[in-house]
Amino acid sequence: LYVEHPLGQGQTVPLNRDQAHYLFGVMRLGVGAPVLLFNGRDGEWRADVTQTGKRGGELTCAEQTAPLRMPPDLWLLFAPIKKARTDFIVEKAAEMGAARICPVQTDFTNAERVRRDRLQAHAVEAAEQCGGTYVPAVDDLRKLDRMLADWPGDRQLMFCDEAEAGSVQAPGAARGGKWAILIGPEGGFSEGERARLRALPFAHVVSLGPRILRADTAAVAAMTLWQQAMGD
Ligand code: SAM
Repeated sequence: LYVEHPLGQGQTVPLNRDQAHYLFGVMRLGVGAPVLLFNGRDGEWRADVTQTGKRGGELTCAEQTAPLRMPPDLWLLFAPIKKARTDFIVEKAAEMGAARICPVQTDFTNAERVRRDRLQAHAVEAAEQCGGTYVPAVDDLRKLDRMLADWPGDRQLMFCDEAEAGSVQAPGAARGGKWAILIGPEGGFSEGERARLRALPFAHVVSLGPRILRADTAAVAAMTLWQQAMGD
């Protein structure tokens, strides 16, 4: 279970109404029952139920069961598409261990805004379900141009360009280090964007194979390719 509260030996953790409903109403747990907790900072802890209630309750941390596992330093930049497919991308990025998820507005992006809080909640759920101890941060929508203008010099960019569609081409760079993956919207990248991205010294143009994949499929394929190339 994900909680905001700090976790540590003997630490008590208050539960909100939703958490109490899930643990005591749905899971039918009572006082003394163990629950695994994580908050994205302190690793995973076994806590015991010490107080139950309809609108809240309390757990008390007993022992750490796993240290914090930091994901590789990978950002996923993607142009938001339809709601369900955007949710899918965020969920899969969290499952696959992205450290940061950045919705970006490109020339052919239709979305004007994203519900950051809703996407962050999806990332939390995905981390819960895959036993992660870390939750990636989900950013607000930003213009791709602005993001590239402030780009940190030590981060490489895997630019997934549909115009490159051919045999799969992994990023040909040294393993490790800081990376980001960029996936375009349904309409792909504009010629201007493509030229600008290709000229960036930190960009590596990548093909995900001979077929044009939907953006949500492309995000998963790109993260898999990156994992394969980087060994993370
Ligand atoms: N409308 C575009 C077209 O027909 O050329 C397709 C865009 S595709 C649905 C969405 C995004 O997925 C692309 O911008 C790219 O980032 C990525 N993508 C899809 N297939 C790819 C491929 N074979 N190689 C590299 N990137 C790909």
